[in-house]
Amino acid sequence: MTFDLTSEQEAFKQSVEQFAREVVAPRAAAIDESGAFPLDVMRAAAGHGLLGVTIPTAFGGAGRDYVSYALAIEAIARASATVAVALSVTNSLVAELIAHAGHASHKQHWLPRLASGEAIGAFALSEAEAGTDAANQQTRAVRAGDGYRITGRKVWVANADAASVTIVMAATRPGMRGQGVTAFLVPMDTPGITRTARADSLGVRGLGCMDLEFDIRAGDDQVLGAVDQGFRLAMWALRGGRVAIAAQALGIGQAALDAAIAHAKQRETWGNPIASYQAIQWMIADSATELDAARLLTLKAAAAKDRQETSPLESSMAKLAASEAAHRAADKAMQILASAGYRRGSVVERLFRDVRATEIYQGTSEVQRMIIAANVLANA
Ligand SMILES: Cc1cc2nc3c(=O)[nH]c(=O)nc-3n(C[C@H](O)[C@H](O)[C@H](O)COP(=O)(O)OP(=O)(O)OC[C@H]3O[C@@H](n4cnc5c(N)ncnc54)[C@H](O)[C@@H]3O)c2cc1C
Repeated sequence: MTFDLTSEQEAFKQSVEQFAREVVAPRAAAIDESGAFPLDVMRAAAGHGLLGVTIPTAFGGAGRDYVSYALAIEAIARASATVAVALSVTNSLVAELIAHAGHASHKQHWLPRLASGEAIGAFALSEAEAGTDAANQQTRAVRAGDGYRITGRKVWVANADAASVTIVMAATRPGMRGQGVTAFLVPMDTPGITRTARADSLGVRGLGCMDLEFDIRAGDDQVLGAVDQGFRLAMWALRGGRVAIAAQALGIGQAALDAAIAHAKQRETWGNPIASYQAIQWMIADSATELDAARLLTLKAAAAKDRQETSPLESSMAKLAASEAAHRAADKAMQILASAGYRRGSVVERLFRDVRATEIYQGTSEVQRMIIAANVLANA
């Protein structure tokens, strides 16, 4: 077994780290402060091959492997958690799903636009009564003429502020839960879409989360994959998305650890840097160890995705371990910086708020534990 990156993966990682340092990090505080969707940074990231990372080059993507994608999302999240998750939604939940299940016309139309940053993608699964219980879809797609009429309301749709296309899940066989949901590719300029509420969130501010009201017409050619197969496709997309959220959490946690180490070396009490005290060293040791353990699980899950392995076990383990390790690392960083971290506008204060969402979106930690337990018990 080898843990070494290939020279191509290593070179890509270094180039993304440089882009994150030079382009993303200087904007992170302002994105958080304003809450405005960072479209210009997203377009710059597209120029760096960070939208459509794993999409084949024939469709304008970068054609890279999932390990490279995870490394890139971690590097970006170390600079800005918001930019990292906005990238991951377009990559994992939209572009990859179109590449996986779309018809040739879907791929030819949307993938080059998504990969170039001309179009931003969004993914509308959650509803007021369908969060953790995502199969409880109340949005309806009813046959009307030679297509469908889709009516309903989606909540917390990330990227929706700037998106050109949204994948909308709707019940085509109400009452059949996951067996009767269809995925539709919906351009955001379709008449009948109302952006009803912009989420004012604790962290990952600037993610452009909106509630969306739909009363639209969609043609048969807008069905992604097959009718009634949308829930299965959503779960497929989330399996990749969870690897990306694990990587995002690692970036946030690593940034918190970096800040804690820098502060501990420079801040003195009783004439000694606080890094010389065992109480501080143990917090740093725990964060470094837990993040590295979670990084191994994340890269293992990314490598499983590269081998086309379909079990959700690895991605759920990676997301659970990384999000909780990053949460603890941000908490310890706050303790090490103390008042310097607690001050509004400090980097650690932003990381402390940003990290929390990684335990909620794309399936809460409870959902990840349910998936892990079901798989472990079934295989015992
Ligand atoms: C910043 C942000 C961005 C988001 N972006 C998107 C997006 O782009 N697209 C999208 O579709 N959704 C998005 N979401 C929604 C997100 O996926 C949901 O918030 C998440 O799935 C949880 O659903 P909920 O908030 O309704 O919690 P609930 O389902 O109400 O759950 C509440 C609590 O109960 C627990 N719980 C529920 N059922 C069980 C059970 N059976 N056993 C044990 N515990 C249980 C949950 O784990 C949680 O702790 C986003 C959310 C946030 C915060």
